[in-house]
Amino acid sequence: PPPPPPPPPPPPPLFFFTHTTASAMLRSLVGSEMCIRDRLSEGINKAKVYRSLLNKDFNMLSLSICVFCGSRYGSDNAYKKATEKLGRLLAEENCRLVYGAGNIGLMGTVAQNIQSNGGEIMGVIPEHLLQAEVGKTEIHNFIVTQNMHERKKVMFMNCEAIIIIPGGVGTLDEFFEVLTWAQLKLHSKPIIILNVNGFWDPVFKLINHLIENGFADESLSRLFKVVTSPEEAIGALKVND
Ligand code: AMP
Repeated sequence: PPPPPPPPPPPPPLFFFTHTTASAMLRSLVGSEMCIRDRLSEGINKAKVYRSLLNKDFNMLSLSICVFCGSRYGSDNAYKKATEKLGRLLAEENCRLVYGAGNIGLMGTVAQNIQSNGGEIMGVIPEHLLQAEVGKTEIHNFIVTQNMHERKKVMFMNCEAIIIIPGGVGTLDEFFEVLTWAQLKLHSKPIIILNVNGFWDPVFKLINHLIENGFADESLSRLFKVVTSPEEAIGALKVND
């Protein structure tokens, strides 16, 4: 009898990981700048697909939204209130949350409010912060990375848009990373800043200072959109898509 046909080739690696495979797969997938570029454009293509769906009057967004936010609550209760509402609205809009997988501060708040409203979550956390940030493991995709850089890349690569809410230097770092990538035209994903009670005003002042002093083009301030309420943030996603 003829020999049996060879087995089919293994499927290409999935872009969504489980915690058991995360580190090894990430090393192969996000190890080089070239790879980052590929993945960035992949994200943009995906966003375009959603755009065309929305043009056909789909009222559900079905987007993956990365939320950068504080690992603390901050001193104004308005930050937590806005975060709770944003979580609920994102879940109601059928958006998947991509975030830092922590269960503390506003990070925990946004995740809890997505979850309690039936939303889906991808959490990405570096190994060394599992304890400190109380890794929230009972989510749909829980990814453990080797370091902070991988964390940012994986979060960014798996979303169609970014929302920044109040936070500390970690949140600032994440904002400036995606802003600089946008400035370098590596991506055109919407960056939406939720400016609760004027919290981010000093950052906008700093950005204007850079522009006024000739260290940035005035187009820099058009690379992100500022909103003042969670409802407006959702509205900005719809406009962008
Ligand atoms: P923070 O805004 O300082 O409370 O931090 C918010 C989140 O950003 C936390 O999950 C931090 O672990 C994370 N973070 C802080 N620094 C960095 C960094 N350099 N790269 C990636 N994530 C960071």
